[in-house]
Amino acid sequence: MALIVQKYGGTSVGSIERIKNVAKRVAKFKAQGHDIVVVLSAMSGETNRLIALAKEIQEHPDPRELDMIVSTGEQVTIGLLAMTLKTMGLDAISYCGWQIPIVTDTAHTKARIQTIDENKMRADLKAGRVVVVAGFQGISEEGNVSTLGRGGSDTSAVALAAALKADECQIYTDVDGVYTTDPRVVPEAKRLKTITFEEMLELASLGSKVLQIRSVEFAGKYNVRLRVLSSLTEETGEGTLITYEEDSNMEKALVSGIAFDKNQARINVKGIPDKPGVAYQILGPIAESNVEIDMIIQNAGENGTTDFSFTVPKDEYHRAMKILTELQPVLGATQIDGDNAVAKVSIVGVGMRSHSGVASTMFRALAEEGINISLISTSEIKISVLIEEKYLELATRVLHKAFELEKV
Ligand code: ADP
Ligand code: ASP
Ligand code: MG
Repeated sequence: MALIVQKYGGTSVGSIERIKNVAKRVAKFKAQGHDIVVVLSAMSGETNRLIALAKEIQEHPDPRELDMIVSTGEQVTIGLLAMTLKTMGLDAISYCGWQIPIVTDTAHTKARIQTIDENKMRADLKAGRVVVVAGFQGISEEGNVSTLGRGGSDTSAVALAAALKADECQIYTDVDGVYTTDPRVVPEAKRLKTITFEEMLELASLGSKVLQIRSVEFAGKYNVRLRVLSSLTEETGEGTLITYEEDSNMEKALVSGIAFDKNQARINVKGIPDKPGVAYQILGPIAESNVEIDMIIQNAGENGTTDFSFTVPKDEYHRAMKILTELQPVLGATQIDGDNAVAKVSIVGVGMRSHSGVASTMFRALAEEGINISLISTSEIKISVLIEEKYLELATRVLHKAFELEKV
């Protein structure tokens, strides 16, 4: 008998029919003698709908009030699932985040979990109940409802699994595991049986939304056994297990996966006098206004000047441009311009560490399709390039083929 935390995403609870299917799966695991804690998302589309309502009132909604609104989606699905389980003769109970409680910091709309009291859940499990917890939400240290950022139910599930020292945390979604790339973009993409934490962290942070990045960080930190599975198939299957590199004795693929991110915009600051402190002068004010900076490049320009480029999220593009344009006289830049029709595509693989030539294969494949690279950034196990957004899907397909990922 095991203690399993199962998380079901928006599509998996998108209709009453789907919720009934989730209930059947939970009942099956329960009948096998396992203790089950279920974490649910809101029905697919619901969180977007709630955000849109808030934006009808305020263009930049008040974060505390926005959390009050968007947290309601999950309250509906947990009630529906607990009710369904009861009609099937199982004992079940639903809880909002504040009832557990799942305590977070006060960073509304992107709060971080600080503590989880597992006592109530333990008592329910002991009494034979299925515990159904609302994902994505908690209660702040100040006693307000908080949410964990988009896709945050993954993190709720992993955090509960860590608190309960569960045997496994299963993330059920609309694909049957982690693929070599988004199967919606490359139909030839293949499911990976295992992927290392390190690679999964990179893929998540580079744009693969199959797992929220914080959930992977949490799983790594607290040693949670994490598996991604499909809720839409009759049989549960084995999905993809996230492993520690040391555990997996499989031969390391050079490239395990490809991630992409459309949420990028590029800003260029040209002809600034090249002296110490330039990067700080440009990026300091951007960072201070909480705009996240991603890729950065600095080139020597002409006559003792330098050109500086970096990327920010698309929805922060205009704000960042405004800050810099106002700063232009202080910076002494000859020109400030930008482009928000760009995207980032990244290849990830622990095998890259010990092999050379990966970058040249990547660059050649893109060049053969006439795709221009405007920024590059690398780490030990990833290479990212910034390209025109219109080529993103083509680039992903071409790279998938160049690294023969359809054969894994
Ligand atoms: P949920 O609502 O269950 O949380 P998400 O939409 O957040 O589901 O995540 C699942 C989606 O992630 C898939 O439908 C798929 O399109 C996308 N995805 C992106 N990259 C990958 C990948 N490498 N492997 C699997 N799915 C991916
Ligand atoms: N419902 C939230 C969202 O759409 C959280 C989640 O689904 O994980 O972002
Ligand atoms: Mg998700």
